[in-house]
Amino acid sequence: MTMAQKTAVGDMQDSALWQAVLGEIELSVSRGSFVTWFKNTQLIRYKDRVAVIGVPNVFIKNQLEAKYNDLVKSILEKNGLRPEKVEYKIHTGISVSSGSEDEVDSIGDESEGQENQSILSVKSSAVEESGRSYRQGLNERYSFDNFVVGAGNELAYAACQAVVKQPGSKYNPLFLYGGVGIGKTHLIQAVGNAILAAKPNAKVVYASSEQFVREFVDALRFKKNTIQFAGFYRGADVLIVDDVQFLGGKEKVQEEFFHTFNTLQQANKQMIMSADKAPRDIPSLEERLKSRFTMGMTIDLQTPDFETRCAILQSKAAAQGIDLQMPVAEFLANRVQSNIRELEGILNQVLAFCEMRSVEPELATIQAMFENNRNRPKHFNARHIIERTAKHFHISIEDILGPKRDKDIVVPRQIAMYMLRSELHLSFPKIAHELGRKDHTTAIHSVEKIEKELSLDGIIRQAVNDLKERLYA
Ligand code: ADP
Ligand code: MG
Repeated sequence: MTMAQKTAVGDMQDSALWQAVLGEIELSVSRGSFVTWFKNTQLIRYKDRVAVIGVPNVFIKNQLEAKYNDLVKSILEKNGLRPEKVEYKIHTGISVSSGSEDEVDSIGDESEGQENQSILSVKSSAVEESGRSYRQGLNERYSFDNFVVGAGNELAYAACQAVVKQPGSKYNPLFLYGGVGIGKTHLIQAVGNAILAAKPNAKVVYASSEQFVREFVDALRFKKNTIQFAGFYRGADVLIVDDVQFLGGKEKVQEEFFHTFNTLQQANKQMIMSADKAPRDIPSLEERLKSRFTMGMTIDLQTPDFETRCAILQSKAAAQGIDLQMPVAEFLANRVQSNIRELEGILNQVLAFCEMRSVEPELATIQAMFENNRNRPKHFNARHIIERTAKHFHISIEDILGPKRDKDIVVPRQIAMYMLRSELHLSFPKIAHELGRKDHTTAIHSVEKIEKELSLDGIIRQAVNDLKERLYA
């Protein structure tokens, strides 16, 4: 039997052929595009020179038709088929978790009859009783309007827009993942804001997974809140949970999250999640959650390319009423390559520098600013800053670098991280490394915490100012 005669659906050879095709496609598109558009496809049929490719949803169907049809066709040809036409069909039988594990098939069985069970038993009326406002956690500063779309985030952007149009239908859950500071929070918040703008009464909840954990622990500790807690999240129309990698290793919380997920899914409520890595790569996350997180649409955000970085800089400057010239944008975009949060940080430094001196942000000025930084004394390095910070707080260098979690050590450690950031502009992974921390997210949280406290806590502000003064003395 030749390939061209084959008609069997899901035939072993079709599947082997399609794997070969996918292998080649993977080599010709970016990893993010491959994962997003091709991961859950299969060759359903090849007959009368028409190849029918099964895809999980209409979003992917449209994209494949519009952007990848020629590629698919040519690679099918290379593999011995001669299709005149390639059709894309939504094929609900497709397992969303790439099919190797049997998780998806078992969803029905394992959850049947116990959907709403959890360690926290919930009354259906609990939602109304909770009396808690649903419009929570959203920050209006994050919108689609001020989000610059470019290579690296366009797929995520498109999927978010699609979710706003029809929450709870196609891409549920929507799972965005990618490195630090590349716009995950911005996008998922923008979804929440846009849904609320269209439906002001929608119950939209945004929570960091840490907040979810904290509330869960509190609910267990103070029993009376437990019903409210569970009911609150399960009563949402749109549940947005940021940084779900922090659920890793927390078994009870994962169980609660699992039940929340099931309840919302059964009710066709939209869920949106973000994490710093793909669900399968999140350590100590239960398989059943991994499989659920990948049931809808999983999209990888990638670091922005040079053009996108320039566009972001100009857009952020414009938001402050400043027309950032292209050479300046290019200069800064070259200095920060990975992370938009860092890009914003450097832009703000530059603009503050210019404002203080009442000069225009021109290339020569800005180059000079960075030149000066480079002329700092040699001893002005990470080690030096950490030592000075420890000394300032009368703790030992072993303690600041060590595992202790006492408050009088944790706060100086966080301040040291903040200093490495603000004075040396080190990357978060580098900061974590300098402080003997394994996870760069610790550095992010520490820096963010101190930044926040600087505006709230006079004592911390004073300490940081003293420290800086001495460093530069
Ligand atoms: P993540 O959640 O991925 O760590 P954030 O969403 O917090 O990153 O983004 C970091 C900062 O960069 C935020 O201030 C956000 O507004 C900004 N940002 C990220 N991506 C874009 C973009 N494409 N256009 C405009 N601003 C962006
Ligand atoms: Mg974030």
